[in-house]
Amino acid sequence: MIPKNHPRYESLVLRDKIKNAFKEGYLADSGMIAHGRGETFDYLLGEKTCPPAEEAMKVAVCKLLLAKNPVLSVNGNTTALVIDEIIDLATQLECKIELNLFYRSEERVQIIEKMFKEHGWDDILGTNTSELLNIDGITNPRSTASPEGIYTSDVVLVPLEDGDRAEILVEHGKEIITIDLNPLSRTAQMSTVTIVDNIVRAIPYMTKLAKEYKNYETKDLEKIIKDFNNKENLKKSLDEFKIKQ
Ligand code: ATP
Repeated sequence: MIPKNHPRYESLVLRDKIKNAFKEGYLADSGMIAHGRGETFDYLLGEKTCPPAEEAMKVAVCKLLLAKNPVLSVNGNTTALVIDEIIDLATQLECKIELNLFYRSEERVQIIEKMFKEHGWDDILGTNTSELLNIDGITNPRSTASPEGIYTSDVVLVPLEDGDRAEILVEHGKEIITIDLNPLSRTAQMSTVTIVDNIVRAIPYMTKLAKEYKNYETKDLEKIIKDFNNKENLKKSLDEFKIKQ
């Protein structure tokens, strides 16, 4: 039990969630390493949402609302940290959720599918291995997607994604939005929109925006997107990493 007055309370709670996910068998050991890397960047960011991330989230929500087939892609870390928040965001955006695991095993898939059902989301895509298709027929195991989800999607939210998967999605015409605390990762660099923030802060903020923006007209959403430049925004995000004493 972590005492609530511990100076690193919130960070330790997240670490516990990740450790439990590993013990429960749905998070791969490398998922813990990825979390540790995220923690370091978040520490340097001051563990707060910065203005460039807010700007990227506004654009991201507009793109998801304007998309024909928007999909939220989830993995073990996302499930461990923000399962309810992802369900809330998908509900507001009226979009699909698809499971994509770097280290896929039937056991992990089944545990996560059951968890989503228990949390009120019955139709998570990407769980039926025999139905998965390889994007554009490429044989890389990171190219699989469900036919009604990522395979036919135009805009995909891929938080905490690895560069190989991101590259395949971008090269095959998808607009990708990532949430990644490391602005230098390959995924962050190649995404259409990069949100440099912790997923635990970003998803609830995006849900709040989605509630507001879903009443906007198309032209107003397009106006928010219009002047966004991901490379410039990434530079601004990098400037937020200041090591002060
Ligand atoms: P790439 O292949 O894109 O260069 P990578 O190999 O550095 O990425 P992975 O381990 O595949 O990274 O992906 C995890 C990424 O997610 C890391 O960049 C890490 O900083 C980030 N990350 C980890 N936890 C969080 C979190 N809670 N919120 C946002 N980002 C996170």
